[in-house]
Amino acid sequence: KNTENKITDDKTVIQTCCYVAGNPVKGTGEMPVFHPYDNRQVGTVALASGKDVEAAIRSALSGGQVLSRYERYEILEKTRKLLEAQKEDFARLITAESGLAIREARYETNRAHDVLMFAAMEALKDDGQIFSCDISPNGKSRKIFTIREPLPLAVAITPFNHPLNQVVHKIAPAIAAGTPVILKPSEKTPLTAIKLTETLYEAGLPPHMLSVLLGPTDEVAEPLVKDHRVSIVSFTGSVAVGKKIAETVGYKKVVLELGGNSPLIVMEDAHMDTAVKLAAEGSFRNSGQRCTAVKRILVHEKIKDGFTERFVQKAGTYTCGDPSDENTVVGTVIDDTAAAYLEEVVGKAVAEGAEVLLGGNRRGALVEPTVIDKVPRNTRMVVQESFGPLAPILTFKDIDDAVALANATDFGLSSGVVTNNMEYALRFVKELRTGTVNINEVPGYRIESSPFGGIKDSGLGIKEGVIEAIKCFSFVKTFSMPW
Ligand code: NAD
Repeated sequence: KNTENKITDDKTVIQTCCYVAGNPVKGTGEMPVFHPYDNRQVGTVALASGKDVEAAIRSALSGGQVLSRYERYEILEKTRKLLEAQKEDFARLITAESGLAIREARYETNRAHDVLMFAAMEALKDDGQIFSCDISPNGKSRKIFTIREPLPLAVAITPFNHPLNQVVHKIAPAIAAGTPVILKPSEKTPLTAIKLTETLYEAGLPPHMLSVLLGPTDEVAEPLVKDHRVSIVSFTGSVAVGKKIAETVGYKKVVLELGGNSPLIVMEDAHMDTAVKLAAEGSFRNSGQRCTAVKRILVHEKIKDGFTERFVQKAGTYTCGDPSDENTVVGTVIDDTAAAYLEEVVGKAVAEGAEVLLGGNRRGALVEPTVIDKVPRNTRMVVQESFGPLAPILTFKDIDDAVALANATDFGLSSGVVTNNMEYALRFVKELRTGTVNINEVPGYRIESSPFGGIKDSGLGIKEGVIEAIKCFSFVKTFSMPW
């Protein structure tokens, strides 16, 4: 057993714990963490209790050193450098607890690097505004100024997919804003979140600024959501839990980044190489476990046969297997239960007339990249979110049908369109009911500081991304002076 939070070989079992304001929690119980590929134990986390929740809230609110903008910048920069130095350790940890292929885990550490870099840069910027009041006949000789103040306390709740990036996307902007955070990461992937917390402490973050708690939902997550001393709950996860939070959160700010069912729409004029590449990348990267992964490939009926043939060939190059193997492109999904669900929805679609062209098998949590043709529009696989490497192909007859089909879902996170026709592109930008429309890109394309977030069941239309998240974690005070 080790306490370094570092995977050194395939016998490593990390022993770690929650933290209340920098203090290790001894724990009322322990939670094992397993590798989804072979179910070996990779870690143990000492869990927090209701008492620790209370202590974390009090520590955050009793405050401590108030950080200048430069100090926030320095802490985020130092964290970025520490992350850079331990990139491989972070990647191995992500792979060990999530089953993501090591190459994807490394890519995730690069994204986290950017989040920290952009948050550090934003910490230095003041977006204050000045309004002269003598600009109308009713005016006065005054000026109104805006300043941004941190919120007293944020709760951040994160999902299992992207065990590092989801967490850093909440914590870094909160620190840039000067807001203390209590983090409740996913029980499925706690080790990376705890390692990030330790790295932030090491970078000089005052302990009251961050606690990380895991424990029974009714003792930790739910009380945190309901507590009236908390000013904002920032949640990323499933629609079901997000809606439950919306009902119980009470009078406070709430940010909900929920599930997706993103289409990739391939028009008849699409550049075929681009379409095939985007369909494969969008469907299979991260084992299809991105909220913005391609969940439905909608292809113009005129080019469907040619596209499908090329896509099946391409999909065949996305080899799945041991996530630690350098050659593996697609690792596991999060656990056997998730894999069994995917198997079930494929079976259901087949019973309803669909045809599996590639893949379709699973071993434990390992699901083969699967291409499914002739998928009925109302089968469960495409009506609900299928969080895995499934690529269902559906056809449409013209742009009106494509828009209607793309929008015929409860979700509204993101979308991608493959076309070189400007009129088509403009219509999709205007008519798709999603938070993002990417032309000739996967639905998931973004940079870490651009606004990101969904509508309908995917979210309340409040954006994240470093710059918008800093706004969420702060409020604007106005003051005015005679001038
Ligand atoms: P989940 O909703 O099951 O869990 C998310 C978090 O909520 C976990 O930390 C969990 O412990 C916690 N939680 C569970 N019950 C709770 C309760 N009653 N009160 C408070 N917290 C509670 O989601 P998951 O399975 O970990 O993640 C996958 C989902 O997340 C997918 O639907 C995916 O699309 C979505 N997601 C969305 C985005 C986005 O930006 N829109 C990004 C990544 C993932």
